[in-house]
Parts: sequence; C-alpha cells; structure tokens
Amino acid sequence: MEKKNFRTYQRRSVTRRSGFKVTGNKTGGESIILSSEQYQCTNKTERFIFYKDVIELVPLFEEEIGIIAFGGCLYSLKKFEITFNLSYSIPGIEERFEHSKKLTKQLNNGTWNPIGFHKEISLSIFDVNFKPSEFIIKDVNMEMVVKSLEAENVLQFISFDFDSIRYQGYQGYQGADLAKLFKQKTSMHVPQIYYLKTDLLFSSYLVSDQIDRLEKGEDVVLKSCNRCDRYLPININDEINTLSFSLHCKKKAPCKHSLFSSYKIDNIAELTPANLKHPYVRGELIVSHYGHQLECTSCKKYYVNGALNKLRNSQQFREDSLRRRALEVLVNTLLDKNIVHFEFKNKTKKEFSEYIWKKFDCRCFKCGTKIALDEMHLDHTMPLAYLYRLDETATCLCAEHNTKKRDHFPVEFYTEEELIRLQKITGIDEGVIRSTHANPEVVDLLVKNVVWFFDEFLSDPEYQKVRDDRRTSDKIYASLVRVLNCKVDLVDEYHLAMKKFPPTISEEI
Ligand SMILES: [Zn+2]
Ligand SMILES: [Zn+2]
Ligand SMILES: [Zn+2]
Repeated sequence: MEKKNFRTYQRRSVTRRSGFKVTGNKTGGESIILSSEQYQCTNKTERFIFYKDVIELVPLFEEEIGIIAFGGCLYSLKKFEITFNLSYSIPGIEERFEHSKKLTKQLNNGTWNPIGFHKEISLSIFDVNFKPSEFIIKDVNMEMVVKSLEAENVLQFISFDFDSIRYQGYQGYQGADLAKLFKQKTSMHVPQIYYLKTDLLFSSYLVSDQIDRLEKGEDVVLKSCNRCDRYLPININDEINTLSFSLHCKKKAPCKHSLFSSYKIDNIAELTPANLKHPYVRGELIVSHYGHQLECTSCKKYYVNGALNKLRNSQQFREDSLRRRALEVLVNTLLDKNIVHFEFKNKTKKEFSEYIWKKFDCRCFKCGTKIALDEMHLDHTMPLAYLYRLDETATCLCAEHNTKKRDHFPVEFYTEEELIRLQKITGIDEGVIRSTHANPEVVDLLVKNVVWFFDEFLSDPEYQKVRDDRRTSDKIYASLVRVLNCKVDLVDEYHLAMKKFPPTISEEI
C-alpha cells in the first residue's frame, strides 16, 4: 500500500465504542455489552492493515526494552490461519525494520479466539540523547493476514488495539520478576497481557479496504477485572472456550456463587431492547453458567506467582535511569564530547549502532545468539557507573546479557577467553579492560572542574528535585563517592576553592 493512502487515513479519529463510564476500582462483578464488527471475506487471504504514524515506546521490565503489541478477539466461521507482519522505521536509521510471525497456537472456528502479536524492541539503538520520552518509532504498519481455509468466510472482531505496551499498573510494568513471567507461556495470555485498550472500534487504526465493508456483528459481553480495572471479553455463548478469565466452577456448573457468576451491566443505559434480549441477560445482570474468576488471566498470572510482592518501587527505577543519564551527560561534558551517536555520525556518516552490530557479526558477544539490529543492546563495555562513556568500544549484547552485565567490569563478567576476544574486537587497552577502578581521565577532569560540577551541573532544576525524600543531586553525588572510593573528596576540593560547602547538595548525606 502506498504511503499516500496512510496519510489520508491517519486523520480518522480513534473512536471509542461508547460513552460508558470507567468507574475505577472494579470488583470483577461488572460488565458491558458491546456489538462486535463483522466482515464478509471476499478473498481466501485477507490482509488487514493497521497503521500508526508514530508510536512512543515505553521502557519496560527495567531492561531497556519497549514492546509494540497488537491484539484482540476474533471469531471466524470457517477454519483459518493468521500471520502478522510488522514494519516500522526508527528516525535516523534508513533501513526499515520488519518482523513476521505466523500464529502457531490452536485457532478454533465457530467461536471467539484471543489473538495477538508483539515485538520487543531494544531501546539502546535510539538517537535519543538520553531523553526517554523520545523512544519514537514511525510509520508503523501492522498487517494481520487472515487466510481462510474454506471459501465464504465471515469474521467478527472485538477489543482490538495497536500500541506500545504502556501499562501504568504494576508500577508501570517494571520488575525483573514480571519480565520473567511475561515471557513464560505468553501466548496463553495474549492479548490481555499487553494491557491494551479493549473498547476501541476495530476500524480505529485500520487503513485497508475492508474498512468500508465492516458491518455490525454479534453482541459480546465484556467483564471487569478487579485488578487491572478493564472490561475484557468473555465468551458468553461458548464459555468453555475462555478468552480473558478462567472459569470459576468448571466441573460443578452451574456456578452458584453469585459474586463470580452474575455481572451488573454498567452500560445498560446505552443499550437497546434488542441488546438485552439475549438469554444470558436477567434484568440488569449478565448471568454466566460456569462463572468467571474476578481477575483476568494476565493479572492472575502475576498475582498467583507473587511477582507483585517483589516489585521494586518504580519511583526508584525512574531515579536510577535519571541518575544513569546524569552520569552519561556528566562524563560526556567533562570529555567535551557530544553523545556518542551524534558525534559518530558526523565523523563517519555511518550509523553508530549499525557499526557496532556489524563489528560483532550481528551476535550477542556473550551467548553468540544472532540478533536483529533492533534487538541489540549497546553495552558500555567499561561501565558507565565508573565514568566510562559510550563510544565505539561498545559491546553488542542481547537483552538478557545486557541486564546481567550492567555495571560490572569486563573482568567480573567475562571468562578469560572472552576477555581476550573482546579486547581484540573493541581495541580497548589491555590495562584498561582488565581494570576495576573509575576512569582516571574523567576523575581528573572532575577534580579540575569541581566548582562547575557543584555550581552548574548539579544546579540543574531536574537534579535539585526532591524525590522520595532526597534531592536527586545528593544521590548523584553519593554514587560518585562510591565510585571514587575515598581516593578523592570532591567536597574538600570544592571547599578549597570556594571556602564553603557546595550549596547544591545537602550537608547531612
Ligand atoms: Zn486484569
Ligand atoms: Zn462458582
Ligand atoms: Zn546474550
């Protein structure tokens, strides 16, 4: 499809299905009835194309990854197969990124199926100057290919959305334990595990021709989850084939627990008598035969596994990244250099990320796994925490090994054999790559510029903000003290020059 078409379509405003109130703090006993959308296939292979001009990726799982996700519930009259094709651009990189996946999980015809596709994207290849608000991908094209195995198929859709994962619950979807669980048996919890919107029209981001032939489909009941507060589809006419909630009384149906089996209809004021004529409607309630759990299967997965108890405070995580960015800016300013991506580009006109990626043969240096450019994590090699900047000596790692490596020195993380190989590839001096102390060049510069450091650098309003009862500047300073390991006392140095205590940090730290 020509780009021109996208441009005309993108003005279509995203349409929510109705004006029902999202009240918050749901009990799991509320519901809404929505009409699905229906499409009569004209071809055996139908390509539904969804398009978004811009999607902002949100860092997840403390791993420097963002995830782009697409999903919803689909009903197909005839047997069918589904393939997803995703393509997008990253500003500053010419090549377009493309990923495909054929759904391998069992798809049933004659009933509703929860389906979805997601792609992790490494955030370390972005030219962002370390502002996390700028993890932007562009011209994002998601193609859902429905191949009907028999002629004259009819499809129905409900609760489709296409976005980055940006869930704000569970402390913004942070925490290593959540990451582990997210990756286990993900396909069983798709799409609810993406925490996308469930009340958009199927046509919201659809730009392909089918859009003009969508009709009203059958009514679908969406039930609330008491943890994430969403309404999610239940398969009310075929409850055994569950969509978003496990059944309550599977063996002893009918479920006689009213808490689990009857759901107040929240949007009843908007419904017509026809919407309420279904056998599952009793007055203002939906009555389920088997009953459903109060929480959706995704929330249940995190809840039952206790991952939520171990969550680090997300505030703390945001501060960690702020402190890391502060260090990066500090080191680069002291070395009087721009952030490496820009500098490199001006020098060689070649994309820095691509250069590192190819230098490492498109593989994670630690495990040797082949990775796509947008799956690469740029590791500093010599740790940022010890005042080494990101430059052309960076290492190409996969997400997992980047997380494990983090602030470790190469000698702490690699085997002897790996260390020798890494030294050859990166060209870092043997003495440096085997060292375990702060970058002496930057420490020197820091001492020489100690007045600038306290009076200008730390005076940045962003660093003077109090978070979690402490000034951010105090934390930045404290992390430097740790790194300098008593060899240099920055406050003493400042006092020597200015005859006072630096005003930008607190005395009692
Ligand atoms: Zn939930
Ligand atoms: Zn029950
Ligand atoms: Zn690896």
